[in-house]
Amino acid sequence: MSARKAARSRAKRLKSRLEGTELYLASDAYSRLCADSWYRRHAKRIAASKKLLGLGFYRGDCHIHTHYSDGRFTVAQAKEAADAAGLDFIFITDHATTDQKYDCRKFSRVWWGQEPAAFPHHLGIIGTQKTFEPSGDFLKDFYTARTTSQALTFVPHPTGWFPNTRYIPEQIDLLYQLADPFHMEIVNGANQFFDCWDITDAQSVQLWDRLLCKGKIVYAMGNSDAHMVHGVGSVWNGVFCDRPNKRSVMQALHQGRYFVSDAPVITISAGRAKMGQTVRPRRGSTLTFRIAAADSAGIYQLRLIKNGRVIKRLAGREQKRLHLTHRERFAGRRFYLRAEVSALDARRAFTNPIFVVG
Ligand SMILES: [Zn+2]
Ligand SMILES: [Zn+2]
Repeated sequence: MSARKAARSRAKRLKSRLEGTELYLASDAYSRLCADSWYRRHAKRIAASKKLLGLGFYRGDCHIHTHYSDGRFTVAQAKEAADAAGLDFIFITDHATTDQKYDCRKFSRVWWGQEPAAFPHHLGIIGTQKTFEPSGDFLKDFYTARTTSQALTFVPHPTGWFPNTRYIPEQIDLLYQLADPFHMEIVNGANQFFDCWDITDAQSVQLWDRLLCKGKIVYAMGNSDAHMVHGVGSVWNGVFCDRPNKRSVMQALHQGRYFVSDAPVITISAGRAKMGQTVRPRRGSTLTFRIAAADSAGIYQLRLIKNGRVIKRLAGREQKRLHLTHRERFAGRRFYLRAEVSALDARRAFTNPIFVVG
């Protein structure tokens, strides 16, 4: 037997001896307790930031797996974790089934969807009634899923996921052929607790800007893709709507009226236009963009991005709330403007863009 194999079987023996002992049960309970208390503290930080901004929005995670597919927890446990994380709604999106809906219906604001493992990209569907079976043609499947029901279709983890699933460029390039508008995750928290951000997310944000620069209307999403219960709510969408019912939330999501975050809160507007909207100003007229951001743990920096380039940076100087006004004369050429904010501990939030066309 090789040394590696021997070590592995020794570890297995030790683990089976440990499991069921008081020490194991106590340490398991202790780690759960630590995670729970961390999430509750984190939820308080976000609630305080929300108060600082003085705006109403609802927090939701739209991509979660339970034991109905390859998740390691039940719908009831997902709801418990969502409450601890301070989420207002969740969508349970198991892979090849929507049978989780029978459990989801037992709880308020626990809705369902599906994430069929279409090829070469998975397919995110929320608010669906029927189970979707992919045909093998991703572009066709994406279109069919979007048009056959009231569902919202999104591209999950468009560049791969943590720790080591990386999509090849040809696979990523396929997304340039998707008919817009569409939704795409720019942050995916799969296999992560406490901190959802990794290299695939940085790549997905870059991809998002490239797609936007091509003139595509692409709405960003941030979802945990939780397979372990403590992943629920590691990243979320802050949705601006009147009431946290499924109809209003879905409508706001469809229109891009939300931001993506793992802690700070942020919003952008241009006159009466809200984030996600398209404005059609007269050539030569001046547009005024207003951005507000908050984080009760302190802001590091607020950035304004136009056509993939940072055009303004505002240092947070450890303040908890920042406002930025930007005026821009419309020269007739289309552009998009979006804002992002980083907290002192590097947590971040992204607005959906405002699209300006002639
Ligand atoms: Zn997936
Ligand atoms: Zn998933």
